[in-house]
Amino acid sequence: SGAGGQEEAEGPSRATAMLRHLLLKLRATGPVTVAEYMREALTNPGQGYYTRRGGIGESGDFITSPEISQVFGELIGIWYISEWIATGKPKAFQLVELGPGRGTLTDDILRVFNQLASLLSKCDVSIHLVEVSPKLSKVQALMLTGGKVQSDPKDSSAYMKGVSKTGIPIFWYRDIQDVPPGYSFYLAHEFFDALPIHKFQRTEKGWREVLVDMDPEVPDQLRFVLSPSSTPATENFIQPEETRDHVEVCPDAGVIIERLACRIEKDGGAALVADYGHDGTKTDTFRGFRNHKLHDVLRAPGTADLTADVDFSYLRKMTQGRTATLGPIKQREFLKNMGIDLRLQVLLQNSHDTATHEQLRHSYDMLMNPKKMGDCFNFFALLPHQRLADPDKKHKPESKSPVPPVAGFSELLLK
Ligand code: SAH
Repeated sequence: SGAGGQEEAEGPSRATAMLRHLLLKLRATGPVTVAEYMREALTNPGQGYYTRRGGIGESGDFITSPEISQVFGELIGIWYISEWIATGKPKAFQLVELGPGRGTLTDDILRVFNQLASLLSKCDVSIHLVEVSPKLSKVQALMLTGGKVQSDPKDSSAYMKGVSKTGIPIFWYRDIQDVPPGYSFYLAHEFFDALPIHKFQRTEKGWREVLVDMDPEVPDQLRFVLSPSSTPATENFIQPEETRDHVEVCPDAGVIIERLACRIEKDGGAALVADYGHDGTKTDTFRGFRNHKLHDVLRAPGTADLTADVDFSYLRKMTQGRTATLGPIKQREFLKNMGIDLRLQVLLQNSHDTATHEQLRHSYDMLMNPKKMGDCFNFFALLPHQRLADPDKKHKPESKSPVPPVAGFSELLLK
């Protein structure tokens, strides 16, 4: 979506409706937090960006790794299979994806599962997608099932269900809490960066939260203001030892990662999180994208993707030690460790068409080049403690570890 006459013609009226809604709200209640503004702009049920537009892909507002190359999803599929083998091939697993976008990543993973069908033949695999956008859930259903889905099934907590082209059941939910318990592999690719953040600014009088307000000088325009005093959020989210002058916190991400950690601790499995982000060092990263260009975050809310870097140190903290964590490591390192070079060679050998060769090399460069997506995207994993710890090692440090290494993460950064 995004390009094309119809979309453009619809654009301005939608922007006005969202802005009108926000101005009404600001007039009635006063300034709102950046988190509240972001939540409205992205996932308001009537006018939100993801609800209505969700322009992922070449013709949309932003492009993601799974949309660039099938190799990306294939290697992630192999990561899950490798974890499944490392934990003794459990009889069943759920693959749970948060914010599946167009469904491309799950589609590529399912192709790998299908190619390894003999290995998985005795395993009961099911797919669980957590998606708030009705528009994107339709796109996913079309991609994964060919569109044959059932809404509000009686026998499930899902709002929609279907069967993949390869015969695997797929369920859709609005919230991770609706996904049934059980041994699960979780996947969050460019999901946490879309969740609402709070912003805080250090001032001479102490920490103040950044708020969004109407601009009294310019009609129909929004502006940032600082809260006149400290708020419960400033008390809760700023650590006493904080050294930065500006801090972004995403409590929704904290809540979700804590849920994942609880579920993995209880039922086993693993979570793979991939996103752009930092380890608690960056300051102002809140930005908008529209038609692949940076877009003023306060302009035409609902028509642009709003995003902020993921703070992996905060995610690690919010696991509360329930699971071990690995990473974050750079995307190019993770993909290299997963064997992307070999996979590229195979695909190049399988084709004699120069246009295909060109395309394969171009997409490899997009994913791996440090100046493109190679360095700014990170991989981060949650794993049960027993997956990494070797209880015997303490006593016999020279003995060979029976615990297989976790694929993708060359250095085991145990934190
Ligand atoms: N993973 C995909 C899409 C990323 S865009 C890719 O990499 O291409 C973010 C996705 O998260 C969209 O599918 C959006 O609709 C969904 N999303 C945003 N906020 C959400 C929320 N609170 N709960 C569930 N899904 C959400």
